[in-house]
Amino acid sequence: MTAATHSTLFPRVPDSADAVLEGLDPEQREVATALRGPVCVLAGAGTGKTRAITHRIAYGVRAGILQPSSVLAVTFTNRAAGEMRGRLRQLGAAGVQARTFHSAALRQLQYFWPKAVGGSMPRLVDRKIQLVADAAAACRIRLDRGELRDVTAEIEWSKVTQTVPADYAPAAAKAGRESPRDPAEIAQLYSVYEDLKRDRSVIDFEDVLLLTVAVLQDRHDIAEQVRSQYQHFVVDEYQDVSPLQQRLLELWLGERDSLCVVGDASQTIYSFTGATPDHLLDFRTRHPGATVVKLVRDYRSTPQVVHLANGLLAQARGRAADHRLELISQREPGPEPAYTEYTDEPVEAEGAARRIRELMESGVPASEIAILFRTNAQSETYEQALADAGIPYQLRGAERFFDRPEVRKASVALRGAARFGGNDSLLDDVVDLPSQVRAVLSGEGWTAQPPAGSGAVRERWESLAALVNLARDFAAARAGATLGDLVAELDERANAQHAPTVQGVTLASLHSAKGLEWDVVFLVGVAEGMMPITYAKTDEQIEEERRLLYVGVTRARERLYVSWSLSRSPGGRPNRRPSRFLDGLRPGSTGTAGRAAVAGAGGVERGFTSAPAAAPRRKQRTPARCRVCGRTLTDAGEMKLMRCEDCPSDMDEGLYERLREWRAVQAERSGQPAFCVFTDKTLMAIAESVPDDERELARIPGVGMRKLNRYGTEVLALCAGREPVEEAEEEDEDD
Ligand code: ATP
Ligand code: MG
Repeated sequence: MTAATHSTLFPRVPDSADAVLEGLDPEQREVATALRGPVCVLAGAGTGKTRAITHRIAYGVRAGILQPSSVLAVTFTNRAAGEMRGRLRQLGAAGVQARTFHSAALRQLQYFWPKAVGGSMPRLVDRKIQLVADAAAACRIRLDRGELRDVTAEIEWSKVTQTVPADYAPAAAKAGRESPRDPAEIAQLYSVYEDLKRDRSVIDFEDVLLLTVAVLQDRHDIAEQVRSQYQHFVVDEYQDVSPLQQRLLELWLGERDSLCVVGDASQTIYSFTGATPDHLLDFRTRHPGATVVKLVRDYRSTPQVVHLANGLLAQARGRAADHRLELISQREPGPEPAYTEYTDEPVEAEGAARRIRELMESGVPASEIAILFRTNAQSETYEQALADAGIPYQLRGAERFFDRPEVRKASVALRGAARFGGNDSLLDDVVDLPSQVRAVLSGEGWTAQPPAGSGAVRERWESLAALVNLARDFAAARAGATLGDLVAELDERANAQHAPTVQGVTLASLHSAKGLEWDVVFLVGVAEGMMPITYAKTDEQIEEERRLLYVGVTRARERLYVSWSLSRSPGGRPNRRPSRFLDGLRPGSTGTAGRAAVAGAGGVERGFTSAPAAAPRRKQRTPARCRVCGRTLTDAGEMKLMRCEDCPSDMDEGLYERLREWRAVQAERSGQPAFCVFTDKTLMAIAESVPDDERELARIPGVGMRKLNRYGTEVLALCAGREPVEEAEEEDEDD
């Protein structure tokens, strides 16, 4: 994400093919000009891989060597694809397809379905997890939410590794996967899931690739048609290609060799879905004549950030690590990464929000700041803290900006105003373009000040504000531009899916942040249990978590804030410790001498910024124990229950049912999924401990300050056997 200045939003298009090569270093130039034969770029984060391939395509197109419509560029996420289309357009190479494997396959499948299968293509299932739940119900297997998610992941893994249900058990064992349930049960669920899909005439995300592969494999005429359209292939983030995607790529390619792949084995973070860096690392073996280029100069990050990234890599193990490349920063020095320990998660989120406010006050645009976390569930605390601090943020990727309903409606309104121009009384007195746009969008809900709080209203406002800013930048870049010109620009961008920069802090998971960059990055929740995540057990899984942190660190251009908290909720047991991956790299890891300061509600917060030092591990804190049998608890769900899952429960079943009914009503009212109100585990814990007052209720894991304020009275009423008194109707938008 680049800063939203006029020059970056509307840069000058290079006036020749050679001009495209300016701004590339010699190795990148080698990539850009190697237009024939197989090319493989192995390079670390921020070394300009994506830049090199984008320029390569643009150079080829501008030099007349590549037909734009014959090039297919494949990137990992829709967001990255959108970013690439934007960059290509800026280099004067519009018309090149930049897509994810999935969207490219979907398009081909839709097109060829009538010919290959007949009729129209089945609908894509939108909630796979529901279908898995239905399969479980059909098999009479009870799965809790976590298991449901894990079983779904197993089914996805099976499909991308092309494992059929009957082969699941041996294949999972061979791959060293820790099955969330008995493998035979998973195989059965997988098989019933497939049947259900067939019965309901739907296909899932993975089927799109599987079916495209099948069509291209079986139908030579169709394969030939696809091959005559696409002749040159470029793949970004190739280290995370799954066997199924690789198969599709081979089918697209046929006997030809115009393939350019770029990747960084140290950023392999999708192994859990069956992806493997082997395709990248063995490229030379499969394509003996390949041009292989290595890039080592890191253009993205300061030496301080790069030092930490290299430090993380130095501790890595495994095949990917054997191919690590030490990064050399090309940038001016910047601040040392800051490490901060907090008492609990809400305090950690408030701390981040406070710092962000200061950064914004010192002139850093919100769009240049990101908060990255390990699991999407962490997002809510940060959304809340940012909303409380009045800081704009965006959750969604930029990819589908033009598909958002509010953006579509706004475009229609702008088009209408452009068409009627002077006849529109709304615009009678308004002459300059930005004011015209503001006037039109006011009718769509845009206001000069953002609405209070977070939620859907706020997201809609952010979209409109992005259009207002785009109009301002557009007018500044093109003197005399009219509303009609702007509408044409929007159309062109919508076709190219080139979204304007939304002026908000980005909240994203580490997985979805790959390939992106910001001036300031907050890596939050960097504690054991989160990073590595509890369910990472094998050495390979732990290594993947380390790489995930490496990806996070290398997203930062200048400033990096690393933080963790000692407990999840206020008043909770402070039994967490900072991530082992920081051992020897963060200053506090020197043992007893220098622990990072704890920032509590009333405490003082100090980030540690001194040089890293080698250190022994810090002592473990008191472990959580089962309150029935006393066993040490490690599973997050069990910790929440405060007992082993199979230890006898003294739960008040009636209360549990009443709590669930109450939760359903709350969820319905606020339009959230039920687990956002309280998870099953939290409700069980409440029904087991039957708290008498707020203090007791607050002690239950999963009941934070905010939930206490919001639901405390009603939950306590239920616990006391009373009907909850409905609070005055409260809109959820500012939740
Ligand atoms: P990642 O592994 O994270 O995907 P990458 O290798 O794809 O990173 P890019 O995103 O292409 O790296 O580049 C990182 C940053 O460095 C971008 O801001 C890019 O514009 C800049 N950059 C790359 N090469 C150069 C160069 N030769 N001169 C100036 N800036 C460069
Ligand atoms: Mg990249």
